[in-house]
Amino acid sequence: MQTIHPLADMTRWSNEVIASGSTIALVPTMGYFHEGHLSLMRLAKCLADRVVVSLFVNSLQFGPSEDLSRYPRDLARDSRMAADEKVDILFVPTETEIYALDFNTRVSVCSITDTLCGKQRPGHFEGVTTVVAKLFNIVKPHIAVFGQKDFQQLSVISKMTRDLNWDIEIVGHPIVRAEDGLAMSSRNTYLSSEEREQSLCLYKSVQHAKTRFDNGFTDAELLKSEIRDIILANSGVSVDYISVVDKDNLSDKEVIDSNSVLALAVIVGQTRLIDNYFMGSDTEISK
Ligand code: AMP
Repeated sequence: MQTIHPLADMTRWSNEVIASGSTIALVPTMGYFHEGHLSLMRLAKCLADRVVVSLFVNSLQFGPSEDLSRYPRDLARDSRMAADEKVDILFVPTETEIYALDFNTRVSVCSITDTLCGKQRPGHFEGVTTVVAKLFNIVKPHIAVFGQKDFQQLSVISKMTRDLNWDIEIVGHPIVRAEDGLAMSSRNTYLSSEEREQSLCLYKSVQHAKTRFDNGFTDAELLKSEIRDIILANSGVSVDYISVVDKDNLSDKEVIDSNSVLALAVIVGQTRLIDNYFMGSDTEISK
C-alpha cells in the first residue's frame, strides 16, 4: 500500500490507472478505523481493480460546538489496518490543500438535508457534500462505497451524484455491529463502560422495530413512542430524534411499510450516536 498526501500525486496516480483501463473504487473516511471501515474496504476490493481509501477529518462538517478537536486520530494504526486489507492507496490530504485560505465554494443538496441529522446539525451535510465532491474530482473513482449506518449521508451523496451527472456508482454497505449489537463508530471510543451499556438501547430499538414490522404493525407514531420509552429507560440518555421516514425522499411516514426506515439519534453522556433500521431487513450482527 502506498500513502499519498499531495492532491496532484493522487490525481496523477488515478489518471495512470484509468489510462491503463482499470477501475477505481473510493472509500471516503475520517479514519480511526474499525470493522465497519474495513468491511467497506473489502467490498470496494470486490467491486473494482484498485481501491483508494481517503482519510480526512473534514472540519467543514463539524458544528462549532462539536467534537472536531477531540475526534480520534491514529494514522500509524490506520495505515497498518488499511495495508492489512491490501488497499492500494491511503490518501491523506492535508487540511490546507483541501481548504486553501481563499476556499469559498460549497456544494449543497436541498430538501433531503432539511430533516433528521441535517435538521439537528445545520451545515453538516453541506460540509460532507463539499468534501466528497472534491474527493470525487481528485480521485476520479468509478465506484464509491459508503456505509448505511449514515443512511441520510448515503442518500444525500447518491442524490448529489445523480444531480451533478457524475458517472460514479454509489454503493451502500449494511451496518456493521459489535457483538452486542452496537453499530460500530469511531465515536464509540468516547463511551465509558456504563455509557457503552446504555447505548445498547439503540440496538434494542432496532430489534423492536423489526419485531413490530414483522407482526404487521403499521402505526409510526405509536412505534416512535414505544421506542422513546426503550431509550429513555436509560438515565443519562436523551433523544435527538426518533423518526420513521420514506427511504427514498426521507419524508415522514405515518403508516409503516417496506419503504420505511426507522432513523435514530441519541445522546449518551456527551456522545451523539445514530442507528437505523430498514423495515423488513435483517438485524442480525453482520460483523
Ligand atoms: P467515518 O469515518 O465515520 O466518516 O465513516 C466512513 C464511512 O464508513 C462512512 O461511509 C460510514 O457510513 C461508514 N461506516 C462507519 N461506521 C460504519 C458501520 N458501523 N457500518 C457500516 N459502515 C460504517
